[in-house]
Amino acid sequence: MAKIKVRTVPDPILRQTSQPIPITGIKTAETQKLVRDIKNTLEGGEYGVGMSAIQIGKPLAIAVVMIRPTPTRPNLEPFNKVYFNAEIIETDGEKVPMWEGCCSVLGKDGNPVYAQVPRYKKIRVRYLDEDAVTQEEYVDGFLAHVLQHEIDHQNGVLFTDLIDESDIVSCDEYKRIMNLSN
Ligand SMILES: [Zn+2]
Repeated sequence: MAKIKVRTVPDPILRQTSQPIPITGIKTAETQKLVRDIKNTLEGGEYGVGMSAIQIGKPLAIAVVMIRPTPTRPNLEPFNKVYFNAEIIETDGEKVPMWEGCCSVLGKDGNPVYAQVPRYKKIRVRYLDEDAVTQEEYVDGFLAHVLQHEIDHQNGVLFTDLIDESDIVSCDEYKRIMNLSN
């Protein structure tokens, strides 16, 4: 299977707003292929824990969450889920800074860059699941963090828009900060 190139900054497609998938569009062969393509692309890289369709060039509101241990987050519990038309309908408390990177925002070394980004610890999300059923859930922890990042992608927002450029560190610097070996 051909590996799809991940779109990276400054590709203008990353600034597009993704279109919602109609409820009748979820189980179509076309959408299922797109979901598989996103999963394969994530699996083909070392770092990602989530990816939106826009990152492989399709401005549609599909986010695949694939939480797994990565070189920069070796202790994550695996979790997989596909979210269609995800939106935040409620937030809880203040935003707190959390470290994150993005497969679409690379440093000179070709690895993702990192920064501490203000994110809500707990959110309520509404989305359509893979059976085309509307779900509303409270989500917290790392999943809440990942979903805020992916929903931003669907609105053309990158994490680097939410912080000061001087707060961005390279992948190697991030690993040093986290006491991870290279
Ligand atoms: Zn991203």
